[in-house]
Amino acid sequence: MLLPHKHTAEGTTIFTVMSGLAQQHNAINLSQGFPDFAIDERLSQSLHEAALKGFNQYAPMPGLPQLRQAIVADFKKRYGLHIDADTELTITPGATYAIYTAFTTILEPGDEVIVLEPAYDSYIPNIETNGAKAITISLQAPGFTVDWERVEQAINLRTKAIIVNTPHNPTGAIWSKEDWDMLASLVKDTNIIILSDEVYEQLVYDGRQHYSVLQHEELRHRSFVLYSFGKVFHNTGWKIGYCIAPPAFTTAFRRIHQFLCFSVNTPAQYALAQYLSLPDLPAVADMMQQKRDYFLELLSQTPFTIHRPAAGSYFQTASYAHISHMPDTEFAQWLTREHGVATIPISAFYRHKKDDKLVRFCFAKKEETIVQAIERLAKLNVMV
Ligand code: PMP
Ligand code: GLN
Repeated sequence: MLLPHKHTAEGTTIFTVMSGLAQQHNAINLSQGFPDFAIDERLSQSLHEAALKGFNQYAPMPGLPQLRQAIVADFKKRYGLHIDADTELTITPGATYAIYTAFTTILEPGDEVIVLEPAYDSYIPNIETNGAKAITISLQAPGFTVDWERVEQAINLRTKAIIVNTPHNPTGAIWSKEDWDMLASLVKDTNIIILSDEVYEQLVYDGRQHYSVLQHEELRHRSFVLYSFGKVFHNTGWKIGYCIAPPAFTTAFRRIHQFLCFSVNTPAQYALAQYLSLPDLPAVADMMQQKRDYFLELLSQTPFTIHRPAAGSYFQTASYAHISHMPDTEFAQWLTREHGVATIPISAFYRHKKDDKLVRFCFAKKEETIVQAIERLAKLNVMV
């Protein structure tokens, strides 16, 4: 029996491949983005409490009311924004799902979506699975900034959406208000919808501020904004996220969501609601910035070079151009096998596998993990 290929991505996602290879070779895994340290005990206790208290049946389709209220309060506190818990917010099983559901909500065959590359690897397959076409535009090294002229040229009557990711995976670059202003000026007289992937919104460093599309008066009404608790509370395996969008968008999103997963794990939602309401949540950006700084300090003892420190996210991109001429995928596999450190080759984030001799390190790790990884990387030689 022949089954259809719904998208053009080949093989298995790079995160599964590299984590699998790391395990096979007992390597230190700085590839797939997940923390290797414990979550706050109060969060684990809340999960236990949820099961004991009987939060074990289906949650309401849009999400547990306690959690939606806690998110609304959190956005009021952190951004001064008002989100309507009933009409603008839907809890999802992670951000990957929320992105897929948002695309499925809006896309029809023949539509085009602008994707800025390098891009998180699910975007293009999600677009294509919905019968639409991804129009890719490369960000400009070294800062991975947007070439606005190319965005303007890419826009036409078939353009249904643009997907933005800030802070950015894999480069750690962040969008300023001026970037959003530029986008606003380009989409002003169009019906282009924005998908804003802001899963790393709380991981922004060096005194900078995350600027959300929700804060942009001209853009908020045309945006789906996607979030993930995994990135904030270090529990990526819980796979809980949410989507904020204007009421009409949310109604359409839920029309799909109700028949995709209906509702999300109840005890986890209860635990997150309890935890999010605590007055003394740990300062996650400070903690992660320390890890970034520590990682960069030690990385300078190796032949890897960086263009600039990550402004956000928990990834640092680095060049191995002084170490090897190998293509990046081959280099990442070799590094895992022969030197016991797993990374992600940046070409995996490009449809046409653009290879700039860069790999991505995840620094959301315990100090001892970082130290051990650097000990191994410091043994690499510069090419002569
Ligand atoms: N978007 C980006 C940019 C990501 O890096 C990730 C990976 N964590 C996700 C979305 C997906 O998040 P989740 O694990 O909640 O599906
Ligand atoms: N977002 C994480 C990363 O970029 C992992 C996502 C995944 O494994 N699908 O590494």
